[in-house]
Amino acid sequence: MSRDINNKFWDEELETLPREELEKRQLEDLKEIVKFAYENAPYYKRSFDEAGVKPEDIKTLKDIQKFPFINKKTQRDTQGVGSFLGELAAVPEEDVVFISTSSGSTGVPTMSPFTKKDFDEFQDTESRWFWQIGMRPNDRYVHALNFSLYVGGPDVIGAQNLGALCIWGGTLPSERLLFVLKTYQPTVIWTSPSYAWQLGEKALKSGIDPKKDLNIKKIIVAGELGGSIDATRKAIEDIWGAEVYDFYGLSDIFGACAAMCEAKDGLHIAENHILVETIDIHTGEILEPGQVGELVFTTLRKHARPLIRFRTGDIGRIDNTKCSCGRTHGRIHILGRKDDMFIVSAVNVFPSDIEAVIREQDGITGEYLIRIFERDFTNKYAVEIEKNADNPKSDDEVAAEVTAALKARIGVKPARVVVHPDGGLDTRSEHKSRRVIDERTLDYSI
Ligand SMILES: [Zn+2]
Repeated sequence: MSRDINNKFWDEELETLPREELEKRQLEDLKEIVKFAYENAPYYKRSFDEAGVKPEDIKTLKDIQKFPFINKKTQRDTQGVGSFLGELAAVPEEDVVFISTSSGSTGVPTMSPFTKKDFDEFQDTESRWFWQIGMRPNDRYVHALNFSLYVGGPDVIGAQNLGALCIWGGTLPSERLLFVLKTYQPTVIWTSPSYAWQLGEKALKSGIDPKKDLNIKKIIVAGELGGSIDATRKAIEDIWGAEVYDFYGLSDIFGACAAMCEAKDGLHIAENHILVETIDIHTGEILEPGQVGELVFTTLRKHARPLIRFRTGDIGRIDNTKCSCGRTHGRIHILGRKDDMFIVSAVNVFPSDIEAVIREQDGITGEYLIRIFERDFTNKYAVEIEKNADNPKSDDEVAAEVTAALKARIGVKPARVVVHPDGGLDTRSEHKSRRVIDERTLDYSI
């Protein structure tokens, strides 16, 4: 199908549906998927029966609130049980064409199966996001994401289906990736925010100016929060002279479930596929749109393994107001992982808040390491940073400035700020950086 490249929408009707019509479609799909899950997935049959709910109880979208939650643990406990695909799966193995698995960063990796239709709809959604950030068939695209098992790997097919020239970069060493960028002059790249930044720095150090010698116009970032932190996004944009767009994916659903548009005010979520709720992280109480809580997703169209009320572990809020871009699908604003949040003097602190401050400060490189520890049964945090080589201020002066900025932004100051020379922190790992070290020995899980 050839599309008008001047049309800003990939699927104009779907993307601009009046909310009432969008919610009507969501309700039809919700009824169907809840019934399908109940009739075909042993886990849902059991859990709905135990909760005393039936698929017929779904009369409005709000009725989903009567149904029980699931989470990562549910996935782990049920995978491999009864069959290879486990008790959350609702189709036989012969209907499955693809599985991805999570990284296992929070425990045993969980497997996510797709039917052919699930997979094709997944890729159509990815094409929509690529189109939304302005990718067109005349773009050259480098997919610099891990292809091994990871659900973000196949997203490159969405770019190919759109018609872009695709280079399956994967996790190439940076020297080879820079060679690809220089030789083939691609216009769009997708990688992690920390790597986009480090790659830009590496290019400069090896005599390549990304703004002059390369042709990257758009950078997609995902996998870490940086793309939603204005200061981080701008730092990457400054190095590359390119627009940066944040995408948000879940190994359990799609490589990207949500993506920024040109307004860069939150990420549009594919509401035709995902019903979003926000709940209080402590009580599970349902929150209103706009309130910050844990995001809970129900997949409306994935048949291989429907997720009914899946607690994502991500903290954010949803904004259902119409965006200036004209799209009607709601936008999510992600604040961080529930597991990464820590409480200091009764204040919820996300590492992303600290990152935002560090990236805005002059005279430091922007690299940082956060240590969370306890003293007298109270949480404390310390931040390690790097001073620019040409910064004439003393380490004490720099530490005092950063301490004051953190206190002003977050409300609680760090127990200490350690200043290293440029390059002194070992946080420049390829592709995904570890920047938070939790040294606590007491259980602070929430
Ligand atoms: Zn928009």
